[in-house]
Amino acid sequence: MTEPEVIVIGSGPAGLGAATALARAGRRVLVLEREAQAGGIPRHCGHHPFGMREFHRLLRGPDYAARLTKAALDAGVTIRTRTTVIALHPGGLVQITDDAGPATLAAKAVLLATGVRETSRAARLIGGEKPGGVLSTGALQGMVHLNGQRPFRQPVILGSELVAFSALLTCRHAGIRPLAMIEPASRITTRSPARWLAAAMRVPILLHSDIIAIHGRTRVDGVTLATPAGPRDLPADGVIVSGRFRPDAALLLGSHLPIDPGSGGPVIDRWGRLSDPAYFACGNLLRGVETAGWCWSEGQRTARAILAALQDQLPEPAGARLKLAHPALRLAVPQVIGAGAAGSPHDRLQVRLDRPAKGQLRLMQDGRVLASTRIDSLPERRLSLALPHGLGPGPLTLTIAEAP
Ligand SMILES: Cc1cc2nc3c(=O)[nH]c(=O)nc-3n(C[C@H](O)[C@H](O)[C@H](O)COP(=O)(O)OP(=O)(O)OC[C@H]3O[C@@H](n4cnc5c(N)ncnc54)[C@H](O)[C@@H]3O)c2cc1C
Repeated sequence: MTEPEVIVIGSGPAGLGAATALARAGRRVLVLEREAQAGGIPRHCGHHPFGMREFHRLLRGPDYAARLTKAALDAGVTIRTRTTVIALHPGGLVQITDDAGPATLAAKAVLLATGVRETSRAARLIGGEKPGGVLSTGALQGMVHLNGQRPFRQPVILGSELVAFSALLTCRHAGIRPLAMIEPASRITTRSPARWLAAAMRVPILLHSDIIAIHGRTRVDGVTLATPAGPRDLPADGVIVSGRFRPDAALLLGSHLPIDPGSGGPVIDRWGRLSDPAYFACGNLLRGVETAGWCWSEGQRTARAILAALQDQLPEPAGARLKLAHPALRLAVPQVIGAGAAGSPHDRLQVRLDRPAKGQLRLMQDGRVLASTRIDSLPERRLSLALPHGLGPGPLTLTIAEAP
């Protein structure tokens, strides 16, 4: 390939969705992927349902990843696997390393689509011994779908967000029968239809409960829960720790590009553009976990912004940094909000909470409410607020008027 016009870092649904759209518009696109195969996280999710939005059919994760990859290749995208990006430099210079050693690549635009990381058991401060059999959902899915292993028979699942139910589907696929899903809050985190899946698999969801100790020397042989009725022991032989995802922003750490402390991902504007306008970002890197279809669609919309940038049709970077003015607010994306225009990829503010909250979510400027919506939500759930197009120059604040 001659020098690419666009480099995409990460070949998950967001990266491949964007790369395909850019190549179909006639641009030279290079995707860099550190794994041996393209496709991102869905490659490890051997279950349905993926692909409705993209291909109008229900696919298993690996088939979906293969289709995304084929669509990109058919459109003319070049995909380099086993290629890790190790540094980002101003103006779209990207340092990589692969079997041939280190090298530097350049492009007019670079799209970051590096996804999320799971929070480890240690970071979640779960006490007890340190036996084998305590896995993140990603590790479980790798063992089951990539290596054909069954690491345990009756684990517990800690968490009840989207990915915890992905773990439940993986268990069903592997003939694993979880003893329970454990959720510290008073409701499950994901939307309630997921509850039916647990009910259909006869897996109880224990609300108001948490794991306070994991037992076993070499293998897990039990867990102790804190429950409203007091401590309770379960004879689990494994623990799947799910939730608390953080953007995989390792590349931003040593770079000139700022990280938003709320999301842990890059600071972007309504065009998905970073402070250095050669860089864009999309997908789970922006805020933690969303579904594959959501990330793919975000990739497509960000591709349109990159096309506009390549034709010098994007407005100059401008706009105020949004201030979060309520303790329940964890993150809002985009963080820099200028006047909007038709076609900007972020015409809605994506918001997540740190704790449950109920009331009016409000975007304020100069004491005026610019946009508002009613919320009654838990952390990790998707919240969004339509962004107005016309905006004054004053500082913008996001707050919650809590219902009593
Ligand atoms: C364990 C788990 C299970 C999930 N299950 C489901 C599910 O069942 N259904 C669903 O809809 N969603 C699920 N999700 C959400 C899932 O993350 C999204 O569906 C989707 O994969 C996100 O797409 P993405 O392109 O943003 O990131 P990813 O799919 O995570 O892709 C990011 C890619 O970037 C690559 N990369 C990262 N850093 C570098 C670097 N420095 N150099 C080169 N390459 C790099 C990674 O190797 C990876 O391939 C799950 C998430 C997790 C963590």
